[in-house]
Amino acid sequence: MNSYDVAVIGSGPGGYVAAIRCAQLGMKTAIIEKYSTLGGTCLNVGCIPSKALLDSSHHYEDAIKHFEEHGIDIPGDIKVNLKQMIARKQSVVDQTTGGIDFLMKKNKIDVYEGLGSFKDATHIIIAEKETTEIEAKNTIIATGSKPSTLPFIEIDKERVITSTEALKLTEIPKHLIVIGGGVIGLELGQVYKRLGAEVSVIEYMDRIVPTMDAGVSKELNKVLKKQKFKMNPSHKVKSVERKGDEVIVKADNKKGEEVTFTGDYCLVSVGRRPYTDGLNAEAAGVKLNDRGQVEVNEHLQTSAPNIYAIGDVIKGAMLAHKAEEEGVFVAETLAGQKPHIDYNLIPGVVYTWPEVAAVGKTEDQLKDAGVDYKVGQFPMRALGRSRASMDLDGFVKVLADKTTDEILGVHMVGARAADMIAEAVVAMEYRASAEDISRMSHAHPTFTEAIKEAALAATDDRALHI
Ligand SMILES: Cc1cc2nc3c(=O)[nH]c(=O)nc-3n(C[C@H](O)[C@H](O)[C@H](O)COP(=O)(O)OP(=O)(O)OC[C@H]3O[C@@H](n4cnc5c(N)ncnc54)[C@H](O)[C@@H]3O)c2cc1C
Repeated sequence: MNSYDVAVIGSGPGGYVAAIRCAQLGMKTAIIEKYSTLGGTCLNVGCIPSKALLDSSHHYEDAIKHFEEHGIDIPGDIKVNLKQMIARKQSVVDQTTGGIDFLMKKNKIDVYEGLGSFKDATHIIIAEKETTEIEAKNTIIATGSKPSTLPFIEIDKERVITSTEALKLTEIPKHLIVIGGGVIGLELGQVYKRLGAEVSVIEYMDRIVPTMDAGVSKELNKVLKKQKFKMNPSHKVKSVERKGDEVIVKADNKKGEEVTFTGDYCLVSVGRRPYTDGLNAEAAGVKLNDRGQVEVNEHLQTSAPNIYAIGDVIKGAMLAHKAEEEGVFVAETLAGQKPHIDYNLIPGVVYTWPEVAAVGKTEDQLKDAGVDYKVGQFPMRALGRSRASMDLDGFVKVLADKTTDEILGVHMVGARAADMIAEAVVAMEYRASAEDISRMSHAHPTFTEAIKEAALAATDDRALHI
């Protein structure tokens, strides 16, 4: 039987990064993955394929809506070749997952394909064509998550679908009903909206992306409505029925009236659930909480002292970069180091266009905590860069402590916000004040000037270009 210092169960961004860091720190490491490709949800059916389709559909939208104004005439009709678009997405996925195979080899990590189940706290059985057993001094559970649904919805994977199927449709929906106005629903909704579908978003809460800053959520809602999304906040879905090629969704609106939506596809994007099926966690003494998450302490250690858990399967934001940080954290803990994660500084991003990105506290969180704060906000449309690229929607908002001027949160809607948020993360990691940012030179013309201007507005209400 092969013996390891560390076995990692699950090869998503949490698991494979944990395995690399363990190997870098000199531990003999194995990784177990039940699917034939490495990379987990993120690389196979999550972050990477969704961004590939967002990019392709963005090009198409630019071509049909904006090329003419830019002075680019295309003779003949511009058409979508969905088969090719999905094939390109798959080739991006294949290249990316292939890269993880390379990294495993490079770092001398043994890869086992098959479902990993605990026999006890130090032995794992891997069931594939043949059953293999390995021994591990320490194990990191990184088994991730699966799409969740509502109890009365039957996902048939054809017309009533999750994000996984939405990434490989064979036709463009005529009317896509999206249940859930969170990140995944809005991103995939926008892919098909751009390709010509009518898209209706049904959200239970009174606003989309409800965990983000209310101002950001309002702005995104406004922009999506301008893009002709049909937004239905405060609607409680009560039935989803498939009739042939039609899907009929019934919901109660705020007044308690029944509203019926009829479409040809329904994307159920109501969140994700932690995944521990087949893991046999009890055999190792690993406890789950009542939400099905693996219970961990501040060291990400489970109720079994030699077993740790990271990523979507534990509490916290279900984000690839959060899982990665936790993978490194556990590897360094096992090596006797004292790593640290500041969960307040894990950025959140929505890759719609305009993009949405945020880090730190929202206004509501600051109000609830009784923090005296000030706000500096700057509209993207006041930037030369925005006019040059015709990306006028959105703003940057900097929230800073009223007394110390320390930046407490940065929230933005706008072109390239996903990349711009890194500046705010660095600033907050070093506990910068709004004035610090406002005194740094930002290249002109760039979208990042909006961060400087919002910081100036927060410092002394002295933005320069508005
Ligand atoms: C459509 C979509 C878009 C997304 N976009 C983004 C984004 O842009 N940015 C972002 O940060 N996050 C995004 N996410 C979320 C992101 O994918 C997850 O947060 C991330 O993948 C979690 O990583 P993980 O390592 O915890 O688990 P996962 O990536 O879920 O990986 C877990 C792996 O464990 C394997 N496994 C499970 N049980 C066993 C077992 N018993 N034995 C062996 N293997 C097992 C699974 O097969 C899987 O491969 C997106 C998700 C979706 C669905």
